[in-house]
Parts: sequence; C-alpha cells; structure tokens
Amino acid sequence: MKLPFAENSTNQNERYVGRFAPSPSGPLHLGSLVAALGSYLRARQMSGKWLLRIENIDPPREQKGADTLIKRTLEQHGLCWDDKVIYQHDSHQYYEQALSALFNHGHSYYCQCTRKQRLANPKGQPCPCSELTLASQGSATVLRNTVGIREMTDIALGAIVFNSEMNDDFILRRKDGLYAYQLAVVVDDIHSGITEVVRGADILPATAFQLALYRLFKLPAPVYMHLPLVLGENGQKLSKQNHAPALINERAASNLCSALGILGLNVPLGMTNATVEEILCWAQSNWNEALIGNKANAFDNRIDAPDSI
Ligand SMILES: [Zn+2]
Repeated sequence: MKLPFAENSTNQNERYVGRFAPSPSGPLHLGSLVAALGSYLRARQMSGKWLLRIENIDPPREQKGADTLIKRTLEQHGLCWDDKVIYQHDSHQYYEQALSALFNHGHSYYCQCTRKQRLANPKGQPCPCSELTLASQGSATVLRNTVGIREMTDIALGAIVFNSEMNDDFILRRKDGLYAYQLAVVVDDIHSGITEVVRGADILPATAFQLALYRLFKLPAPVYMHLPLVLGENGQKLSKQNHAPALINERAASNLCSALGILGLNVPLGMTNATVEEILCWAQSNWNEALIGNKANAFDNRIDAPDSI
C-alpha cells in the first residue's frame, strides 16, 4: 500500500525523533507535564529531535487559546521543542490519502450504525455493515481489523498482552466527518518520521489499534514507552475532563521536581533552589526508563479497552 506522505517523511536518515502531542482542550496539568518531560528527556538523551504537535482533530472539544497556554507553559518549564509546531488541522490531506489507500485495498468499510447499535454487536463480531456496500455519505469509516495485534513490548513496562477487544474493528473516521484519533496519530507520526513515542499509559490499550495500522501500511512502527499516570485524590487519573488543576508557571522548578518523582527520580534536597535549567540538565544525566520499573507494577499488563475507545 503506497502512502505518498510516508515517502516524503521528514526523517529519511532514521535519526531519533520524539514528540509531545497534547490536545488543546485545556491547560497542561501535572499528568501532562510527566508525559512532556519523559518524552523530552528521552529525545535529549538520544541527541534527537523533540517535536510539539497540537492534536486539534476534535474542534468541539477544543478550548480557544489553549494551544497558546500550552506553548507558554512548556517554555516556562524549559521544555523547548524543535522545528515549528505541528497542527493536526494542517494534515487532513494526509488522513484522506491514508483513508483512500485503506479503502481501496479492502481494509475498511462504511458503517451506518449508531453507537448504541455498535455496542449491541456480539463481542468479536464485526457489524453487519462490513458485509454491505454502503454509501460513504453519512457513514463512519471502519477498519476491518484482520491484523489482530495481541502483544507488544514497551520500553518501560515490558511485555504487554492486549485484551481481545483490542482486535475488534475500529473507527477511522466518524459519522460526523471527524477523523478518529487512531488514524490521525499514526499518520502524523509517520509523516513526522517519529521513531519513538513516549506518552501516558492511558493510551497504552489504543497502541494495539495503532500497530495494526502500521502493519497494514507495511511501515515499521515506532518504539513505545508508556509512562505512569498521575492519580488525583479520588484515585482517578488527572485529566482535563476531570478538571485537573492547571500547572502554575511560576512554580515551574517545583513542578518539574514533582514530575521527576513520578518518573522515579527524586531530586536531592541540595537542589531545592535549583533553576529550571539546572533541574533539566541534572535530570538528563540521571533519569532513565529503568527508574519507572517498580511503578510499572501499578499496571495490569493485561490491557482492557478504556471507555473512550
Ligand atoms: Zn454498522
């Protein structure tokens, strides 16, 4: 399957390229800082590039001005990205190319089911639309998941076995025309030549879907490292939806120390008055993925689908 944007990938020489990819649905919180910092440290340690991508494929969930706030917060925390910021709204042509390639090779079908009908399907069974030739108009585009990725190896978490639900067919483009996260993230990572994805463990289950797309595109997938999630007092993960408090930029140094603690690296007491630059420089020399190791026990390596997928 030919993907024109893959041939024009900005990374022909396979240099390390990482990224941080927040959605502009609100300001960054401590959980997002952990993901940003983990991916930044890996990229800097590998003398690679660290890209910033604003994932604005879902305009109804977008908060006006959030991208500016995110960029300011990253800068205040010393996390300066390389190249110009990538916005997903500039990538629709690549999503379309990928959708056409998949459809033309019989890897997707149009589905007119409602969400309720889809959920009512027996588990492991594709919806009846997969047998029909429906119009694209008013339909969702669904991937025929013939690949069925069952396992992967994560740099931090080791061997992962996916729940069978992660082998179900999945939506590439919603009925309302919006591109699904699974499609956009893979296309963007291919286009930017990303070699390693470092992100929060909440996205770990979805990696099965993303790996299936790489397999169908016949392209090598990046290496993955999933980082510990930050839990709030109620035991739920910190997220914009849960109204996690925004990072206070004036406390950048202390925020970085908290984030490093979650990544398994405790900043020594002697560094209490260190600047943002000093903390980052020290962390670059002292942090590695093995420090997350014991925190990985917090995850059940048998991964279930979260509600949002
Ligand atoms: Zn259907």
